[in-house]
Amino acid sequence: MIGATTSGELRAHNRVRLLRAVHDCGATRTRSQLTRDLRLARGTASVLVAGLAEDELLHEEPAREHARGRPTQVPGPHPRGPLALAVDVREDAWELAACELGGRTETLDLRPHDGTPEGVLRPLGEAVAAHRRRLGHRVVGLGVAFAGPVRHGGLVDIAHLGWRSVDVPRLLGPDVPALVVGNDTAFAALAEARRGRLQGVRVGVHLHVDFDLGGVLVVDGRPLGGASGTGAEFGHMPLTGGDRPCPCGAIGCWSMDVGANALLRHVGLAYGGGRGRAQAERVLAASEEAVAANARALGRGIAALVNAHDPEVVTLSGHGVELRERAGKALLAACEPRLMAIRRDHPPRIEGSALGWRGALVGGMESVFDAFLTPECVEMWRENRPDQGRDTPERQNVMNSTLKG
Ligand SMILES: [Zn+2]
Repeated sequence: MIGATTSGELRAHNRVRLLRAVHDCGATRTRSQLTRDLRLARGTASVLVAGLAEDELLHEEPAREHARGRPTQVPGPHPRGPLALAVDVREDAWELAACELGGRTETLDLRPHDGTPEGVLRPLGEAVAAHRRRLGHRVVGLGVAFAGPVRHGGLVDIAHLGWRSVDVPRLLGPDVPALVVGNDTAFAALAEARRGRLQGVRVGVHLHVDFDLGGVLVVDGRPLGGASGTGAEFGHMPLTGGDRPCPCGAIGCWSMDVGANALLRHVGLAYGGGRGRAQAERVLAASEEAVAANARALGRGIAALVNAHDPEVVTLSGHGVELRERAGKALLAACEPRLMAIRRDHPPRIEGSALGWRGALVGGMESVFDAFLTPECVEMWRENRPDQGRDTPERQNVMNSTLKG
């Protein structure tokens, strides 16, 4: 109830708490469970839910299974409710998804790109603008993940693609909604903290492996962003003793030894520039030696980070999941002897992500809803909603179609 002094402010505050609770639980808790969780009076909860349903923010469905007695209701996303658009820009392709309150995501578009700032961001901006026109006021923001550091909210460097201080908001164009730009590893870590294996963990390390490796410390559910927002760069620490120059400008970066580029290099194939995903996947499936070398490098770096940060859990996403599954012994054999004795007695768990490859998208979505779920934005949603009484054909279309249209 911080700052809520009038009854109107208190109501606005409780509306946001309820929306946040529905979102965070993935729209799985019943109204009576949420009422208890939030310590609301039953009457208050009924009034809040009714108001949020009227504003097309929530919609209740009967619970699938319930104990004997009255059927209970589960508040979830409204079919005309707010949507976050989220994009994962990888080095070779981008994926655009629409996400509902509660966290369900649906892919709208998946396209390869040529790796140039113009070739990635102009078509992406056009695709976002087209979906925004179709979905109208429902789109409350756009979260975009990039495989590189992000400064000042929108200047992106992707070393492998030769991007230097690329102005993402300018190239996406003026027709995109409220924009959150983030690093893919930081977004994946945020997703893991909200919906994956870092839930409830006080200190964790998250590592995301694609063409190379990124990593970030997660404290109380928040990836530490650094002073200028470029904190998720464990991959550019010299943790494995190599001396190969890294495209980032440093020498001997950990990420030179882990990921698709390292797998390709290990078997003598061309690598870099965001090319070779399919070949790297074949190497990952077939070459035990390349996989073991990657896993050993991963284990060595993890030991260094565990010695430094004392995490409860180390979570892996992207190819990290497969490296752990396929060469877990090699990974641990490289990690354990490098742990300090005080760490070795109780080493942290090393776990694959619960979210597979979708972490960066899910984290982008969470960032958009974090910005939206405030009393001010929820009030603005109510004011901007098209007139309740008019059920125009366009609105019916949105309701009757899937998110894809
Ligand atoms: Zn580097």
